[in-house]
This record gives sequence, C-alpha cells and structure tokens, in this order.
Amino acid sequence: MKIVSLLLLILAVSCTGVKEPVYKDPSAPVEKRVEDLLKRMTLEEKVAQMNQYTGAEHIRLTEQEVNKRRNLSSSDSYHFYRDCNVDSLRARASRGLIGSFLHVYSLEEINELQSLCLQSRLGIPAIFGIDAVHGNAFAYDCTVYPTSIGLASSFDRALAEKIGRETALEMRAMGHAWTFAPGIDVSRDPRWGRCGETFGEDTYLVGEMGAATVRGLQGNFDAEGVLTTIKHLVGGGQSINGANASPTDISDQTLEEVFLPPYRKAIEAGAMGLMPAHNDINGIPCHAHKPLIEDRVRGEWGFKGLVVSDWMDIERLSKLHHYATDIKDAFRKSIDAGIDVHMHGTDWQELVCELVREGTISEKRIDESVRRILTVKFRLGLFEHPFADPETTFDVRLCQAHRETALQAARESIVLLKNDGLLPLAPSRYRKVLVTGINADSFNLCGDWASVPRPENVTTILEGLRAESPETEFVFVDQGLRPSDMTEAKVAEAAAKARGCDLVIAVAGDFMNRRVGGMTCGENNDRADISLPSLQNELISALAAAGKPMVLVLVSGRPLGVEEQVASSNAVLNAWEPGMYGGEALAEILYGKVNPSAKLSMTMPRNSYQTLLYYNSKPMLSLHPYIDYGVKPLYPFGYGLSYTEFEFSDPRLDAAEIRVGESVKVSVDVKNVGTMEGAEVVQMYIRDLVSSRTRPVKELKNFERVTLAPGESRTVEFEIGPADLQFYGPDGKWIVEPGDFSVMTGPSSADKDLKSVNLNLSI
Ligand code: BGC
Repeated sequence: MKIVSLLLLILAVSCTGVKEPVYKDPSAPVEKRVEDLLKRMTLEEKVAQMNQYTGAEHIRLTEQEVNKRRNLSSSDSYHFYRDCNVDSLRARASRGLIGSFLHVYSLEEINELQSLCLQSRLGIPAIFGIDAVHGNAFAYDCTVYPTSIGLASSFDRALAEKIGRETALEMRAMGHAWTFAPGIDVSRDPRWGRCGETFGEDTYLVGEMGAATVRGLQGNFDAEGVLTTIKHLVGGGQSINGANASPTDISDQTLEEVFLPPYRKAIEAGAMGLMPAHNDINGIPCHAHKPLIEDRVRGEWGFKGLVVSDWMDIERLSKLHHYATDIKDAFRKSIDAGIDVHMHGTDWQELVCELVREGTISEKRIDESVRRILTVKFRLGLFEHPFADPETTFDVRLCQAHRETALQAARESIVLLKNDGLLPLAPSRYRKVLVTGINADSFNLCGDWASVPRPENVTTILEGLRAESPETEFVFVDQGLRPSDMTEAKVAEAAAKARGCDLVIAVAGDFMNRRVGGMTCGENNDRADISLPSLQNELISALAAAGKPMVLVLVSGRPLGVEEQVASSNAVLNAWEPGMYGGEALAEILYGKVNPSAKLSMTMPRNSYQTLLYYNSKPMLSLHPYIDYGVKPLYPFGYGLSYTEFEFSDPRLDAAEIRVGESVKVSVDVKNVGTMEGAEVVQMYIRDLVSSRTRPVKELKNFERVTLAPGESRTVEFEIGPADLQFYGPDGKWIVEPGDFSVMTGPSSADKDLKSVNLNLSI
C-alpha cells in the first residue's frame, strides 16, 4: 500500500513539474495568463471574481451592532450578511468564491484572508480594496495627508502625485492593492457633506489634481502600484438639496463642460478603475447607465479598466430607484450597463449564476468582466506577491519621508482668509493665549475616511502651538470632541478666561470622524444649514465680547457660512482637514515660520442662503441679486492671502489674433514686492465674449505655483490651444467659434484681482 502511494506521489509531482499551468508562469505575457486561467474556471468561480465582501472584523463589528440595535436596515454604514458569518466567509474564501474584499483594516487580517483564497482550487489571490482617500488613513497606522479639498487648495500638481505615490507604497506594504479614490466629482454645493473628498468646484483644477493623483497611485501599475477608482460618475456634487445620493438633474451642457471632463482627463492619465454615482442623472440611475459607461467611457474614451459598483447601489436600483423589478433584475441591468464588480454581499453569486444559466446574460459577457479583473490582478503582481510582509511594513508606513510630505502638504493647504495685521504673531506681544473650540486639541484634523489615530501620530493645534512658541502660556478650555458635546458652562468658562489673556485662538468647525459618530460633515452628513453647528456661534460671540484680538481657525471638509464670525475676528484661516500634522503646520503659519500660500478650491458663501454660488456662473446670475444677501460670496474661488505681496503685470499675448485651430502664448510677470519669501498661484481664466450658447463669466484654464524671494520676479507662460476655447454647442458637438475672448490673469478669480487682454479668433 505504501509503495502504491509513493508511486502515485512521484507521478503527481513529475506531472505537475512538467505541466505548470501558464497562468502561474510570471514570465508569460499577461494576456496569455488571463486566457489560460479563464478557460480553467467554472461559471461559479467566474461570477465569484465579480463579487466583493467586507472583511471578518467588519462582519464581527456588524454582528455586535446587530445584537445591540436589533435593526440595521436603518443604517447605511454597516451591511449585515444575512446568510454569512465570519466562519462561512472564511469557507467561501477557501472555496474560491470571493474575488475581492473591502475594508479590511489590518495587515494580519489581510494575510489571513489571502491565505484562505490561495487554498482554493485555482489559488486566485483576492484583491483588497479600501477608501485610501488621503493616505491609507482609513486603515490603521498609516500616514494621514490633508483631504482632497485642502490638497486642491495647494494648486500643486507635483505634491498630489507625490502623495499618491506614497499612499500606494503604504497600501502595498499592508496588503491593499485597490483604492476607491480619487474622488473627482466637481462639488458645487457646500451643503454636501462630501466636498472634502473632492478637489473642489472647478473642472480644470479637479481634472489636474485628479490626474496627478492617478499617476502617483498607479505608478507603473505593477507590484508597487495600486488600482485607482475615479468616482462617482457623475453629478453628485450638484444634486437636489445638496444631499448625498439625491436625484440629479443637470443640463447636457453642464454635464459635458463641467462634470465629465475630469473623468476623461483621469482616464487619459491611465485610471484603471471607475465607480458610478449613487444618484440618477437626468432620470437614469448611474449604476444602470449603459450610454454613459459602455458607450461613452469604454466606447468613445477607450477606458480599459474595471467598473465597480458603489456600496449596495445595485440593490438600490430596485429598492429605491424603482428602476428594476427586483434584485435579480437589478443585477442584470447593472451588468448590461457595464459593471464588472459588485460591492458587496451574498445575493450576487446565486442570482447571477442563474441569469447566465437561463440565458438572460451570456457567459461571454461574464468573461469580459473576469478578463478585466484578472488582468488587474496579474498586472499588480498579486499572483507573485499575494502577502504583505509584517517584518518590513513599518519601513514604509508612517516612515519619516512620508510624514514630512504630510507636513508640507498641510502647510500648502491652509488658506489665510483675513489678516488685519495681527499675523504673524509676535510671541513677545501675546504672552498669554486662550485656545479653545472643538477642534483645538483634536484628531479630527484627520478628516473623514480616517480611523482614530494613535495620539503620537497626530499633532493637534494646541500641541503644535505649544511646540512652536514655548515661551507663550497657552490656556486651554476644552469644548468637547463634537459639536454635540458642547455646553453653555464651557462657553462661559472660555469667555471668562479670554478676559485674562492677551489673545484668543478659537478653533471651530465640523466633526468628521466616521468611526466615532456624531459627525456634522462627511459622507451622508449633508446639512441644510452650513453655519457652525451647536453652540459654536455663541462661543465666538462670547469670545469676541471679551475684546481681545482673536484668530479664528476653521476645520471642516466643506466651506462654512461664517460671515459674522469672520467679521468679529482679526485673522481667519481655513485649515480644511489638514491631516496628521495640521496642528504643526497651522502653528508654523500663525507664528510666521511658514508663509501661507493656499487658495480656496471652493467658493466660501456668506451664509447658508448663498449655496450653489460657484465662481463660473453664467452672466445673468448677477442681474437681480438676492435683495437680502446678494450674489457676492464672502470669499471667491482661488482666493487666499500671504504675508508678502505680489504684483502682477498685464497679461501679454504673442499674437492678438489667431485662427481657429491655432494656439497662442500668454505671459505675465509676477513680482514679490514684500519682505518675506512666498509662493503665489498664478491663475489664468478665459471668457468667450459672444457665443451661440451662453457661457460662464470666466473659466480657469491653467495655473502655476511660483515661489519668489523678496524682490524676485518671474515670467509665467501659458499656452492657449483650441481645447481651451471650445464649448459644447447647441447641436451637441464641441465647437470653437470665431470672435473675441478675454484672457485674464491674476491671484484669484475675483474681477478686481484680474487683469485682461483681448484675443481675437478668426476663421
Ligand atoms: C461610498 C464610496 C465608497 C464606498 C466604500 C460608499 O458609501 O459612496 O465612495 O468607496 O462606500 O467604502
């Protein structure tokens, strides 16, 4: 008997030795590996590759929640798998029935689940996805950079690419190879809680920062890169009521000129993943939008990557959109529209197999998706490098170089909005300083899509101030973590202490951490009222009444409506969500070690009544301004102060007249006429003066960030080509019309800051 077993073993070894499958051969071309693997797979295995599950810890937490609350149907943030607990999840993985996971937060769990997947018949590794939106911050122990709205305020493409690269390296160092980022929605409405996940309100800025982020994250799309997901196609940044997932009615012109271009640019930059939006667009839910996904993105734009559904959005086609009769019909419609991966759950497997067996969906269509998924897994090297190495992971995560980038990004993203001469602070003048407000000593600087960081991995504003000015006595009055924690007694205590101090620093804003709860900004935390929540306005008024100089610092993922609070402060900074070193960067700016250089990536309205007040409106907006609040915002897009002053020359064209199809160069001189080195963002806007379709009063077409020493000047040049002059014409085609254009350059989008020159275009 023993001899027979031995012979069988020798036979098996020699057979496998001779015939190692092509898909396991790293030297074989990816297409050959994909085809080889595909032909070995059963229908069940193929359909499983298209399905995603949350990790075991996520399920464990969810089970606890279920026991606590007994009803999860009201919650969007947890999903309970009715027929799948942690044990059956593991069993599914080892049977090759899970293609990808999301929200697995630790290296140990990733490696454990991966080893189960590799035990399956074909040993196909899973790909682990997570929302690494600003660093891999949602996972544990990774570098946390400013969120996108703040990063966009730097107007620094190279910085965005660098952060993308570092994020990818940290992700791979813990086993993640797929991020559901970057968000390239154009966000026009500050009521929307997700503004912080976007690069702001301008199409060009969003496209440039989005493309740079894609390049950084994906790298060469190999074992050092990750799969990106540009999202959410499309229009969620201008939904009805500014509410997440709310219906979206947007004209063809606005869709084509404002919302779609960043997607095209990111795809040209190589983006390999895409996620449709929760919302419908002009009556068609984005998760079933075949003309958009299949015809436009894949057909016209040549997108070769994966389309992943958003959290439970296919199910919502029937449950909420009433666009499909039941879940099975919803799966059919979304696959038909071009979706490759289902985020997430147990219903998919059986129902999709049934759809194929009964001939409603062809196996050929399933193969198309599986080919795309396997191509991604092979290209990212998951078959050769399925595990993360616990020994070396912290050589990369939170390494010194990445921490320095996070600090630099925070410095570049904090916008100085007002300064009556108070800043930079002289420590000898303000010896005793009151620091108060919910965000004064809080990890909330890390924003949405972040876990609660270890205290040693975040510098709060109070800590930053103490380190930056050791000779100053900082008196701290804690107002709690979240707006809802505030009490009148603490407000009164702060006001009383302000009287005994030389200066007040009030740090107000929203609360964004989804792991803690009590959020006032972030996903599914939209607000009709964008003023400071809870007792914060009372706090600012009480502090102002103390009569001391006051600095107001805003921390939020959205522009806030704070006209009165700004008026009662001597200096105001919008820090957005500045990340783990936000406190250090802010203190450096307050004490003049760093010269602020950021510019608003979104207009700041005066108050909640001025929402949808983006800078690139059509001209008639200002004919009959609101009789109460007008249509001038508090601060416009592109605005931000410095401690030095810059002087701009008039823009010059190298030809005042060109023909349609030609390009022209515009140049402008910028000089630092102050006494401190500083960076300025030179912005170029264009206006089409007469056109066959109404056009915006101005549109950003290029920008450059320049750093100048006192007295130094630089000539900045931009090229204007046909793509900058075209628009989406009345007959649904992009056209360039002859006529006059105004070319404007300056330090913000405000008319008073721009100088212009006329460009004539002839046939
Ligand atoms: C969000 C997506 C995100 C997904 C996974 C959804 O609720 O809309 O942006 O990628 O969850 O976390």
